Amino acid sequence: LTHFLERVKTFHGRGEVVTRNPDRSLSRTTYADITKRSARLAHALTRLGVGPGDRVATLCWNHARHLEAYLGVPAMGAVLHTLNLRLHPREIGYIANHAGDRVILVDRSLLKLFRAFKDAVTTLERVIVIGDDGEVEEADGLDYEALLAAEAGAFPWPALDEGSAAMICYTSGTTGDPKGVVYTHRSMVLHTLACCMATVTGVRESDVVLPVVPMFHASAWGLPYVAVATGAKLVMPGPHLDPASLLELMAKEKVTTAGGVPTIWLGILALLDQDASRWDLSAMRVMLIGGSAAPPALIDGFWSRHKLRVVHAWGMTETSPVGTMAHLKSTMDLDAAGELEVRSSQGFPLPFVEQRHAGEDGKVLPWDGQTMGELEVRGPWVASSYLGDEGADRWTADGWFKTGDVVTIDAEGYVRITDRSKDVVKSGGEWISSVALENALMAHPAVLEAAVFAAKHEKWSERPLAAVVLKPGQEATKEALYGQLEGKFTKFWLPDDILFVEQIPRTSTGKFLKTKLREQYGEYLV
Ligand code: ATP
Ligand code: MG
Repeated sequence: LTHFLERVKTFHGRGEVVTRNPDRSLSRTTYADITKRSARLAHALTRLGVGPGDRVATLCWNHARHLEAYLGVPAMGAVLHTLNLRLHPREIGYIANHAGDRVILVDRSLLKLFRAFKDAVTTLERVIVIGDDGEVEEADGLDYEALLAAEAGAFPWPALDEGSAAMICYTSGTTGDPKGVVYTHRSMVLHTLACCMATVTGVRESDVVLPVVPMFHASAWGLPYVAVATGAKLVMPGPHLDPASLLELMAKEKVTTAGGVPTIWLGILALLDQDASRWDLSAMRVMLIGGSAAPPALIDGFWSRHKLRVVHAWGMTETSPVGTMAHLKSTMDLDAAGELEVRSSQGFPLPFVEQRHAGEDGKVLPWDGQTMGELEVRGPWVASSYLGDEGADRWTADGWFKTGDVVTIDAEGYVRITDRSKDVVKSGGEWISSVALENALMAHPAVLEAAVFAAKHEKWSERPLAAVVLKPGQEATKEALYGQLEGKFTKFWLPDDILFVEQIPRTSTGKFLKTKLREQYGEYLV
């Protein structure tokens, strides 16, 4: 990663980085400036006793200071650990302690959250406060700006072993306790290069990149590094992630490439459907979507009504994060309507990633587009263990990582995620894909969201139930919703009931928390 710093130094005045501040004003800086400030940060941390392998945590929104830590901390040989500020303080405390964080950088606006968990982190020695939105009180910690001001703008970056740790990120905790994943310098650099190579992203210096995912989440790491490596302009949305303010930013900065989770894009699509003329998105080239399954209705809606291209990608914290991307055979295919179907699959592996899928007995399955099995991946940026000694059973004897996602793979290698293995409805020995049912329900114009999950059943062991949220002011009967499913699925797949709900419980990163739904409605059929 030190090479990235050396490279971006030369983007004098170009390679702009735009941050939207909490008060919605915009700050502008360049990679050249960020490189200098990363060096100052490295000096300051060294002075505070941070050395190779030490963990430096961040509790920050998306802004340029966070990018300084992204670059400076790993380049000095320390390990960056981005904390998920949407978790419960108890969970953040557990994670920071588990990772052994010694120093933390905190946004001033997040001090209240920090105080709620700081006592749980026994390893913590220093607190540095980023006070972009006001004065830093001495009692809260060291002032980031004051620390940097005293330091030189060049650092003797050490020669690091490419296999040494660069970053730590924890999984989202959708299916259990979050698990820590360590990224090496080698995995980060190769992951970035592969993302740059992917046909559809293909980011260039002339691009304007907007990572909508918070920078503490694994899937936000891809785009900032891709921007840095190519010298593209990087736009950081700050704490305002509501659809209207994102659209405003996309139009104003002429964003060409953005990435986010389906929830974000669903909100944006709903606003565009109301009145697309409010925002000029003509610069937009590609919107990446991942983190959970993108409903085909979303991909189709953007394309057919707004001529905006959505590219579906699959990944996990354990795959740094991008594993597969619905890249087309050629960018020239982009306009062909036939490719929409391709884009609603999760695509095929990035260069250097291998994939296969296996049955419950571990036997490798055929690529026929029909046989469901657990996806297994292997490659230079796929984790080979978790931090601590958790989850060793997730790796096969021959070194493949078992993803916990159930997929089909077609003859060309396109992957379709049918479910998480924990979310598949196992009814009378048959597997029912909750995602396929959700997609069909969400194709109904009145449906905002639908989640299908397993409820206990005396005879069949599990049966599917659907929870549906309707769009504000819209109506649909159960019969109409069943109409969406009949004919498309065998009778046996149809949910035993459809429940109309106000909202679907979610994780901090916007994924359906089906464990909560199962807790709430698991006994509904018994
Ligand atoms: P935990 O592992 O702690 O239970 P998590 O799996 O949600 O949480 P992440 O690493 O953030 O943590 O998410 C990875 C998972 O997200 C994948 O295993 C997959 O189930 C889901 N996912 C990611 N992208 C997609 C996608 N495009 N389509 C469907 N599912 C996706
Ligand atoms: Mg997981």
